[in-house]
Amino acid sequence: MIGPPRLPVVFPPETEERLSSWIARMAPFYAMTVPEFLVELGLPGRDMFDLEWRLPEGEGALIAHRTGLSEAAVQAMTFREVVPEARMMVARKNRHHCPLCPAEVHRKPAALPWAFRCPVHGVELRDAGGLTLPQTLSPELFTALQAHMLAGAAVLDDWARGDGRRALGAAEMLAFLTTRHRRASPPSVAEQPRMSLQTRRDYHDFLTAPIARQALTVVVPEYDRVAPVLAKPVRPGHHGLAQGSQLQAFALTVGVGRIAEDPINRAIDVLLASDDGGQERVREALKAWPLSVRRGISARFWRVQRDERDRQIAEKAMRRRQSHKYRTIQSHKYGWRVS
Ligand SMILES: [Zn+2]
Repeated sequence: MIGPPRLPVVFPPETEERLSSWIARMAPFYAMTVPEFLVELGLPGRDMFDLEWRLPEGEGALIAHRTGLSEAAVQAMTFREVVPEARMMVARKNRHHCPLCPAEVHRKPAALPWAFRCPVHGVELRDAGGLTLPQTLSPELFTALQAHMLAGAAVLDDWARGDGRRALGAAEMLAFLTTRHRRASPPSVAEQPRMSLQTRRDYHDFLTAPIARQALTVVVPEYDRVAPVLAKPVRPGHHGLAQGSQLQAFALTVGVGRIAEDPINRAIDVLLASDDGGQERVREALKAWPLSVRRGISARFWRVQRDERDRQIAEKAMRRRQSHKYRTIQSHKYGWRVS
């Protein structure tokens, strides 16, 4: 290929490093800005985030020729394996950071919201405040939820790669998890921070502001207990993952994992916890689920409701018997007292 000569110094890409990270590391070495360095690579006016999303073969060959890297190595730094509908999941930089990775190295997995561990060092990533999930959740809870998280991450990975093996996909699960299954309500006593009477008066607005209630809190009650009440609602559908905090992304990934493990029972849990309006919305979200799963839900939900009705009838009958007995005892007592 004819073109400008090879650059004298080229950094080898780090493990799973993304193209934008590699370009941003190389440019300062040549005392250039990123746009200047792109000119040097023969790609004037191109955006490095567009390049790393889809790198046309010709431009990949250009970078390979100029740097001496193989075309495969250059393409490996792009997100070509991610399908267009999942692009919003690819952040422009590391979502969370690994304390052992150099700050300027951004790896592809760290751009995705369901990565919670450094692919190189195997340590938990830290959020903007420097906290890891075991610190936010407690180490025990994090360990207990890990298997579900991994199951969820596998589903999300398949979805991002356009793998259609699964009948029930991540998009449908996320829509379900973020459905408002009950009407919005103010923070419950358990959700409120402990405060004095005066503080309660000062925070009256906070204490009476309705909070959106989503299926996620039923499928992942651990999240419901741990999440700060104002930061509990997640954005609807994909946006909850794409734009959520680390804790929200973790809860959604766990939720996806739990649904993948047992979709019918998770749907029933949410239907049972719903109020009337919410149940409508949940049923609407379930319409996108495969027919076989929906049939399973209908059959089981009908049985669960019947059992619940029977239980209530039995309970009522029991109460009636007890109150009758109680009255009998009372009248006996009365009889004893007056005699
Ligand atoms: Zn690391």
